[in-house]
Amino acid sequence: MSRVRSVIRPDVLAMSAYHVADASGLIKLDVMENPYRLPEALAKDIAALVAGVAINRYPIPSAERLRALIRQTMQVPAGCDVVLGNGSDDCIQYLTAAVAREGAVVMAPSPSFVMFQMQANFFRLPFVGVPLREDFSIDVDAFLQAIAQHQPALVWIAFPNNPTGNAFALDDIEKIVRAAPGLVVIDEAYQPFAGASFMSRLNEFDQLVVMRTLSKVGLAGLRLGYLAGRSEWIAEFNKTRPPFNLNVLTEAVAIRLLENKSVLDDMAARVLTERERIAPLLRGLTGLTVYPSAANFILVRVNGAPGRGTRVFNAMKADGVLVKDFSGGHPSLQNCLRLTIGAPDENNAMIRALKHALE
Ligand code: PMP
Repeated sequence: MSRVRSVIRPDVLAMSAYHVADASGLIKLDVMENPYRLPEALAKDIAALVAGVAINRYPIPSAERLRALIRQTMQVPAGCDVVLGNGSDDCIQYLTAAVAREGAVVMAPSPSFVMFQMQANFFRLPFVGVPLREDFSIDVDAFLQAIAQHQPALVWIAFPNNPTGNAFALDDIEKIVRAAPGLVVIDEAYQPFAGASFMSRLNEFDQLVVMRTLSKVGLAGLRLGYLAGRSEWIAEFNKTRPPFNLNVLTEAVAIRLLENKSVLDDMAARVLTERERIAPLLRGLTGLTVYPSAANFILVRVNGAPGRGTRVFNAMKADGVLVKDFSGGHPSLQNCLRLTIGAPDENNAMIRALKHALE
């Protein structure tokens, strides 16, 4: 239809929609979900709770109780507040909207989470990706130089990083935070598996905001993310946030789950134990480079000519295991596969399929 072509932005016309692979019948280790369902008693309790929620009413945008619980359970420091998102993807969008002055530069290490750049593009902001070193550590001198040159309004640092899985050195991040002339958001989506966090340091740096999500600790389908920072920042993001972005069911369920946070901590701990069991097994396979991980996934590179990674991915899929193939994306991820840590039997099947595919 020619009207579509004349109305929709050319860059949008040229894009493809976000693709999620069909995982039917496969062991799903592609998108960093937590493999565990809630304990049955808690699931039943939630079913009863949901039955009582007034879905005929709009959510109350301030979501006071949920925000208070997040501040308390996630140790958000005094003087700081949180603003909620329909997943942290939503936070990335409305935070970018809030800084989107004409020409404001958005910067992030590269490769990193694709949404940082996509949202910059949607708001027509120049995006500068600063290449990571070959071992996926931050090239801090190059980053500081890029900051000096481009004076970014917004810097995103995923800590740990997706898709590489490593946590950048705290010192390097600190240097970037100190040098940045604008806002720095530390995206701690994988914090439950990392141990380190910038949350307790929010008052130390005026320019710092921390973003988190509950997606990786068993609640990906619920869609709840948040930004934590000095109240002055949070008040502004609250203006570009769609007022009813958090639906009443998510709000009610999240409150009940955060009142039982040990259940979430427990699911994350089980995944962490599995990561530590799986990493040495992967290192024992020949033909593979295994990158260090502080997240709930491990990035590996299949040694060999371009195309071998995709062949291994396809062979694993034929063996019933779906992982994520990065060949054809960012050039430094040629032949790389991202393996989400699942439950023990899923991980065993994944290792078997990978070993088989590498033979
Ligand atoms: N940040 C990072 C670094 C991620 O990897 C992801 C999910 N892949 C997100 C944010 C978004 O997660 P969600 O929208 O589920 O909160």
